[in-house]
Amino acid sequence: MARILITSAIPYINGIKHLGNLVGSQLPADLYARFCRAQGHEVMFICATDEHGTPAELAAAKAGKPVEDYCAEMHQVQKDLAAGFRLSFDHFGRSSSQRNHKLTQHFAGKLAENGLIEEVSEKQVFSIDDNRFLPDRYITGTCPNCGYEAARGDQCENCTKQLDPTDLIDARSSISGSKNLEVRETKHLYLKQRALRDRLEAWIDSKTDWPILTTSIAKKWLNDGDGLQDRGITRDLHWGVPVKKGDADWPGMEGKVFYVWFDAPIEYIACTAEWADAHGKPESAWERWWRTDKGAADVRYVQFMGKDNVPFHTLSFPATIMGSGEPWKLVDYIKSFNYLNYDGGQFSTSQGRGVFMDQALSILPADYWRWWLLSHAPESSDSEFTWENFQTSVNKDLADVLGNLVSRVTKFATSKFGATVPPGGEFGPMEAALIADLGSRIAAYADLMHAMDVRKAAAELRAIWVIGNEYLQASAPWTVVKTDGDRAEAIVRLALNLIRVYAILSRPFIPTAAEAMMSALNSDDWTWPDDISAAMRKLPEGHGFSIPENLFRKITDEERVDWQTRFSGVRS
Ligand SMILES: [Zn+2]
Repeated sequence: MARILITSAIPYINGIKHLGNLVGSQLPADLYARFCRAQGHEVMFICATDEHGTPAELAAAKAGKPVEDYCAEMHQVQKDLAAGFRLSFDHFGRSSSQRNHKLTQHFAGKLAENGLIEEVSEKQVFSIDDNRFLPDRYITGTCPNCGYEAARGDQCENCTKQLDPTDLIDARSSISGSKNLEVRETKHLYLKQRALRDRLEAWIDSKTDWPILTTSIAKKWLNDGDGLQDRGITRDLHWGVPVKKGDADWPGMEGKVFYVWFDAPIEYIACTAEWADAHGKPESAWERWWRTDKGAADVRYVQFMGKDNVPFHTLSFPATIMGSGEPWKLVDYIKSFNYLNYDGGQFSTSQGRGVFMDQALSILPADYWRWWLLSHAPESSDSEFTWENFQTSVNKDLADVLGNLVSRVTKFATSKFGATVPPGGEFGPMEAALIADLGSRIAAYADLMHAMDVRKAAAELRAIWVIGNEYLQASAPWTVVKTDGDRAEAIVRLALNLIRVYAILSRPFIPTAAEAMMSALNSDDWTWPDDISAAMRKLPEGHGFSIPENLFRKITDEERVDWQTRFSGVRS
């Protein structure tokens, strides 16, 4: 049994996430966490809301609420939606927690002790009409790298380049739109990433098993142009972690907070401490996941994120950890994703374009979305959600292939032999061939899941469902029963056992349907079927079962057209 620490990129607090966000981190992380648990490993699966920074302040102002209240409300909304999608976090925390305040200040203090913090007097954009400095997203303009006209002061959404507000061309205030701006002096802290560049590069070079998408982005920011730059880690804002050096005040930094991108990844650690607090556990309970001197040396740490988050997780956060000089756990594997597009364009939170998590659950259960999103995860390239494809995938894969098999077998068995596993006959050559085929396919499926090869794993799972259908077609118990009752009983006995095995294999993708299948088979044994021959004989003769409610219903053409129209425009 291994110990596996899994973190999903933490979703930003300002609003409900769309399906593109979901499939870019939280959902595949959940798939992997569920698989690792199913394999018997000890898993710590962590996520949180990312609550600091200018967008939270702007969204709270727009909602007419104090930012603390706004964040508390939106955290609960996101937590409820995560539960609705069956995301199995061990803890869903908040980057505004006291744990994160303390830990962020601790890291900053250690970095300063180690000579890795520089105090810089810098010129910052001040809006005369708004009477305030304009950090990050408070300022909008044209990206100097790619020419995108709506780039934000902290990062260009289009080309992912990290920016400083003064880099922007034709800059304007995001609050008032005013271009009546001037540059004024203010003091900020910089993390000396350049001093850690060689260590970071050697570390990334050692990660030969990482996806190319991950390492190519990291290498780009290490080497492009002037190479990795030092990074401002403080802001002139009210909402955030106050700048302190450990527990001590930081002279000259009064009234400033740490930059949201400095404190957000530290929340992975803080959130695990929040988990310990929530369960009344001692410090050692979370430290054994994070401190290599306190038990975390044998932990495998895997992060999930969209490609826009890769620079922060391959460079900035590791720089914080390495620079602390303390034995904190560094990530072992980063699984990153491209973007999911929506029906001929992009998902957009700001424009309300696409399907959002609350809307999705209002029209169909989570499993339908989980299956489509994971089986179409944007791994090697961007992928696209279309309603036609969604309808086809749900109707064929879930309803025709899996749902139909479960329904047909349990109904036929009940009508012919009653609601218990029939005892007659023996498994013959057809059953032996199916069991052998299942054995090799389950091994292949487990390898793909272990490798986090999400789309291929989904395809393999579907193929496993298909061979069950092919076996039933070929063995035809509904015909055989007329002439050879014992033979029909053996086929049905195998098919009922197959449904239980399907429940185990399918649970990481479609947990609700899998649990309904297991419950219909009147079992709660989720042991991974490494010994498939034994697993296919698990349900003994005479074992009771029931016919499950219809597992999946089909999406009609009328619904598809209706949803396509309803979700074509801007969210109200
Ligand atoms: Zn750009």
